[in-house]
Amino acid sequence: MKTLRLILGDQLNASHSWYKEKSSDVTYLLMEMRQETDYVQHHIQKVLGFFAAMRAFAEALRAAGHQVIYIKLDDKKNKQGLEENIQAVFEEGDFIHFEYQLPDEYRLDQQLKSIGEILPNVSAIDTEHFLTHRSFLADFFNGKKTYLMESFYRAMRKEYDILMNDKEPEGGKWNYDKENRNSIPKEDLLQEQPLFVNDLTELAKMLEEQGIQTIGSVEGKHYIWPINRKQARQVLQHFVQVLLPKFGLYQDAMHTDDPFLYHARLSFALNTKMLHPLEVIQAVEKAYYENPALNTLPQVEGFIRQILGWREYMRGVYWAKMPDYATLNFFGHERKLPAYFWTGDTQMNCIKHAVDQSLQHAYAHHIQRLMVTGNFLLLAGIDPAEVDAWYLGIYIDAIEWVEITNTRGMSQFADGGIVGTKPYVSSANYIDKMSNYCSGCKYDKKKKYGKDACPFNSLYWHFYDRNEDKLAKNPRIGMMYRTWEKMQPEEKQKILRQAEEYLSNIETL
Ligand SMILES: Cc1cc2nc3c(=O)[nH]c(=O)nc-3n(C[C@H](O)[C@H](O)[C@H](O)COP(=O)(O)OP(=O)(O)OC[C@H]3O[C@@H](n4cnc5c(N)ncnc54)[C@H](O)[C@@H]3O)c2cc1C
Ligand code: SF4
Repeated sequence: MKTLRLILGDQLNASHSWYKEKSSDVTYLLMEMRQETDYVQHHIQKVLGFFAAMRAFAEALRAAGHQVIYIKLDDKKNKQGLEENIQAVFEEGDFIHFEYQLPDEYRLDQQLKSIGEILPNVSAIDTEHFLTHRSFLADFFNGKKTYLMESFYRAMRKEYDILMNDKEPEGGKWNYDKENRNSIPKEDLLQEQPLFVNDLTELAKMLEEQGIQTIGSVEGKHYIWPINRKQARQVLQHFVQVLLPKFGLYQDAMHTDDPFLYHARLSFALNTKMLHPLEVIQAVEKAYYENPALNTLPQVEGFIRQILGWREYMRGVYWAKMPDYATLNFFGHERKLPAYFWTGDTQMNCIKHAVDQSLQHAYAHHIQRLMVTGNFLLLAGIDPAEVDAWYLGIYIDAIEWVEITNTRGMSQFADGGIVGTKPYVSSANYIDKMSNYCSGCKYDKKKKYGKDACPFNSLYWHFYDRNEDKLAKNPRIGMMYRTWEKMQPEEKQKILRQAEEYLSNIETL
């Protein structure tokens, strides 16, 4: 039966069972489309990365003897929409059966479900990428009042027998988070050269000619993200051999001179499925058992938790809570995103560095996203829809299932506590402890009000004060309210007035 099989841009899983056999009856379809370049304004490196990786994947399939139809963005026949393209290819090729892998985004899921109304013989199959099924998390917590990442993570450790000693966790503890909260001394900065560079000038030129609106910058000749499986494996190998020994130690650290530190930079390769999560986890686990003195348990467990725990957990939350999740706004925040998030043109040194490096590399690590940009946006009461659009556009790894749960959930607490148990907010104190940002800043990290007082300090108390009815009963926050209550009324007034002034002039900070 002549079959057309769709491969989406984030379904570049070469080990999928689809490819085990070759058949002259089967044709694979990949498409570059305006619907994907335009649903949000993306970073130029993100669009380039997806298209270059899709092209490389199509070539690899052809080289392995499969039949492939690849529609480029500027192909005359490209109708630029998913259903329209599929229908045209299906009819032109006299196909009888259409198959797709279950997409990871709700919007694509809806679109592909509607294909069943247009074409006969449509069927869907798993991507064989994730370690849980779409509905696993909802079933796991069925009947429970709240979700809890830690209990999900422990179940996953047992299920996949990762860092386990029979039924007990390796080393006797499930979690080494407390040992992973160090700032970084200058002598441990890496400032690494890229492992490889790709020349994507032709592709960049095509995007420009097609008028694709993007953000950020790129040097087309020096594209540093992996665009094929070989490069993705190289990034993994480099992580295990060079970065893993200090990954956990400096996981939360930030520094003006090094955008990447000991982070793996694997999210793009994982989210496009060029790498399988179990392959990554097992490579790291193996490094531990081979050399536990070098790759100590806090480094290894800290890393594995991110992938086996957080990544799978976020996907589970997404499928359990969409589509409502995309509209949640627990605090009713409505303020517009300040313009300096698109330019880096702000005097707040921490925001400036986090935004500048995001525009330059389409990358910021977790703590920069959570405790610098996300922290500020939450304190300032920015509309979560604007916050989502920014995170979804700017990062190389941003696909809605993992972006929205991290942004609207973990970072903005707009879900009222589905992902996290309390809002992640801090004053300058935390940022100063974990980075060297404050020493180069116009603002004074110690001051809550008055000339050049750090905006984070007054906004922090303003946030707690204005949300008292929503937060005071949270057992993890009660202590903050007791501290606030103990302050002299005059002091409180000065702090709140300072915050109001900053909020009224937010574009000038
Ligand atoms: C506001 C906000 C938005 C985010 N948006 C995205 C996003 O769009 N796409 C994305 O992949 N990650 C997102 N994250 C999670 C995390 O910041 C990135 O996965 C990480 O920075 C990617 O860089 P890395 O590969 O060097 O990660 P490392 O720090 O080296 O971690 C290793 C891997 O663990 C996984 N991981 C770590 N933390 C998380 C997490 N919270 N959720 C899911 N997976 C995680 C990633 O696959 C990552 O590659 C976001 C976090 C926050 C706070
Ligand atoms: S002083 Fe405040 S604004 Fe400046 S870098 Fe520190 S936390 Fe950021």
